[in-house]
Amino acid sequence: MKVPKWPVCLVFVGLVATLVLAQNQSQKPKPRVVVIGVNGMELDVIRPLILKGAMPNLARVIKNGAYGKFRTVPAPNCPKAYTTMFTSTKPEENGVTGFVVGGITANTNMLKKEPIWSMLSKNGVTVGMANVPATFPVMPVNGYMISGMLTRGKNCEDGVLCAPKLSEVEGGDAIYPTSMKAELLKNVGDFYIDCERMPAAEQLRGHESEVIDSWLKRVALIREQQTKVFDYLLTNHPTDFTWMVQSCEDRTGHWLYPIAPYNVGYNPKINSVRPDAFPSQYIAFDQVLGTILKHVDNNTYVFIISDHGIKPLREFEETDPHAHMDHEKTTPVIAKHDFADGDDVPGSFFAMGPGIKHDLRLMGFQASVFDIAPTILHIYGIEQPAQMEGHVLTEIFENSDNKVALQK
Ligand SMILES: [Zn+2]
Repeated sequence: MKVPKWPVCLVFVGLVATLVLAQNQSQKPKPRVVVIGVNGMELDVIRPLILKGAMPNLARVIKNGAYGKFRTVPAPNCPKAYTTMFTSTKPEENGVTGFVVGGITANTNMLKKEPIWSMLSKNGVTVGMANVPATFPVMPVNGYMISGMLTRGKNCEDGVLCAPKLSEVEGGDAIYPTSMKAELLKNVGDFYIDCERMPAAEQLRGHESEVIDSWLKRVALIREQQTKVFDYLLTNHPTDFTWMVQSCEDRTGHWLYPIAPYNVGYNPKINSVRPDAFPSQYIAFDQVLGTILKHVDNNTYVFIISDHGIKPLREFEETDPHAHMDHEKTTPVIAKHDFADGDDVPGSFFAMGPGIKHDLRLMGFQASVFDIAPTILHIYGIEQPAQMEGHVLTEIFENSDNKVALQK
């Protein structure tokens, strides 16, 4: 091939023009998006709390934005729902079909489709992710990534959740870039990467109240540490796109959902001890939300999403009401979310930000786990790749001439 001989000065002018263009692009501020994930937030439980005024921060988001049910995947659990949000593809296509895939705990090396953090990073968007489930081992991003649920560490058997501290992580990196680990240990201290595992039936027997109380204390400590990490990151490492997730709510619901005596699995020794334990998780979450919202201005898009809900046992075909292989097998589980029909346990979706309608309730299932990645790409003006099955949630935006260019 003949290489064109450009006059040297023209090449120089071209180079300068490219640099100036690149500089202009980098000077143009990118939209800021903060996604807050709550594992298994149950609308049946939070709506009465909002009515009572016990979740003022979430109430503020609802008033200033759009909210509704959030369609999840069939037999939902965290790894399936999150990888669907990351890629806008079905679990069977993205490779993460559950907590355990082919006998191995789900991990990021199994992802067969490109995740949103990679697409954003490639397009110059700075990315910060903290405690997002199914992000272990962490992957390089244009920013930072701290793994969440499914992080492996000391005493973690495959298929069983565990709660390693940052210093106890094994089998891969929990923080990208690795230099951030020392920084966090120095400035925030060691912290739990995931929520506490549930106690086993034999631990509980005869010591129900004590075990429940000490478990809830540990959960409160984990949330406190997590809040400190989020606050530190938002203060010292602000990014264009930020995704932070809490997971203690779901864990609490599985064995401390405030069920009634007619429910399957009701044990007064456990279920009458702290009927407030599960609702209290959401009141505590609302305070975490308050901390995050302090870092948010009117030009920031805020999405609060829960990957699925959680309900007392109800599936007729189950012979063992306590079977819940996705969590600690021996815990007396009284509520769950991996029902065959995901519409039985919808997640929830809240959005607030420039050009997003106020006080809008999405009826039915207008928003789904498939729509998160396309909507975020849309905000950054990045074209939706063919792999994505979801749609841009145009329903929530005021009109097509808002700051976001609507996709055709
Ligand atoms: Zn769960």
